[in-house]
Amino acid sequence: MMSRQRKSIGIIGIAIGLAAGLYLITTETPLVSTAYAEETKSPAPSPIKALAERDVYYPGSEDLAADEMRVIACGTGMPNARPKQAAACWLVELGNGDKFIFDIGTGSGERLSAMKIPYDYLDKVFIGHLHADHFGDLDALWVGGVLANRQRPLRVWGPSGSEERLGTKHAVKHMEEMFAWDYASRQGNVNTVGFKIEVNEFDYRAVNKVIYEENGVTIRTIPAIHALDGPVSFILEWNDLKFAFSSDTFPNKWWMEHTKNADIAIHECFIAPNDLVKLQNWSVEDALNVGTQVHTSPAQFGKVMSEIKPRMAVAYHFFNDFNTREGVLTLIRKTYDGPLALSVDYMVFNVKKGEDIRVRMAVIDEDIWGLPSITEKKPADPNERVGFSDFITSGRVPYPEIVEKVYEDTNKTFGTNVPAPK
Ligand SMILES: [Zn+2]
Ligand SMILES: [Zn+2]
Repeated sequence: MMSRQRKSIGIIGIAIGLAAGLYLITTETPLVSTAYAEETKSPAPSPIKALAERDVYYPGSEDLAADEMRVIACGTGMPNARPKQAAACWLVELGNGDKFIFDIGTGSGERLSAMKIPYDYLDKVFIGHLHADHFGDLDALWVGGVLANRQRPLRVWGPSGSEERLGTKHAVKHMEEMFAWDYASRQGNVNTVGFKIEVNEFDYRAVNKVIYEENGVTIRTIPAIHALDGPVSFILEWNDLKFAFSSDTFPNKWWMEHTKNADIAIHECFIAPNDLVKLQNWSVEDALNVGTQVHTSPAQFGKVMSEIKPRMAVAYHFFNDFNTREGVLTLIRKTYDGPLALSVDYMVFNVKKGEDIRVRMAVIDEDIWGLPSITEKKPADPNERVGFSDFITSGRVPYPEIVEKVYEDTNKTFGTNVPAPK
């Protein structure tokens, strides 16, 4: 039973949540953890002192405790990315310093950069399946990382397919091919060591198989059932904490068996069939097929969570709006009454053993620049430069007196002696 204090915190939390347009709904777990509320009791009112800490997350402003996991929603929406919700992407940060990206759907690259993390640390990506809404921004992280001085390969894990051309290796190799011009154009202009990609393709049929084991972190794969053979779900375990991420899947026996008692379980919860018909003009037939057979509908999501009983169930993969949220919640609550978050981008979860999971929204600085790299920047090697044809060179209007002055002033500022090109 809730104590009076917990109940009142919960009620206040719900009131604040509703007023602020938050997207979290829980039953037994109060919105604001008791420990946290104790910690941040308002100081005596004052017109000149700082206020008590607000219940928001400012990226880059908080330490992560040695035994803590922070999970950030960097994409919770649909293939049609929109300002409010990019396509699938979840960032997991651990107190041992490791960071992992699970799926990197269209539009999620900017969410990752909003987290104010040097790209050096964003080098591990786990792709659940090869739909654009789950890996469409891999190029943004890859090339963006090169330009932000990630002087190590981007490491990618993803499943095989039923044939070679449907696997992760093929997809990444051809992404590199697609960016042949991008790569060639940067040679000699920026340091390009980070262009290397390490691809770790594994059998999509593997059941609870370890695909990553470093630094006390274990990541396993289980098969998922979605659209075509190939998709998988992931389970990360570290420091007695368990994170499970479905990517996309129909409810399946592997998820039920291997994600039980997860601390945080993130599972797709697709737009309800009714909304697909009413708001997207789908035919009833397609809405029911895609909404309940290719994907997991809200009612099925509830059933899945009531089987595995996580400390926090997280629903994603629907447009979470004023006119859809209540319908999704009602359907989930028919089959599940445990802790629940209906996620939107920038929702942040702090997960520790023995404490309520703290859920907040991040406040984003839209003017963010890429954070300075932790690695010393190596200059480009001009000998790598591919250069222009005579035809294109003949079109240059060089303004030598202007450019020479730019070189002169910049050299003066930095005490350097870089010669202006002739
Ligand atoms: Zn998919
Ligand atoms: Zn999807």
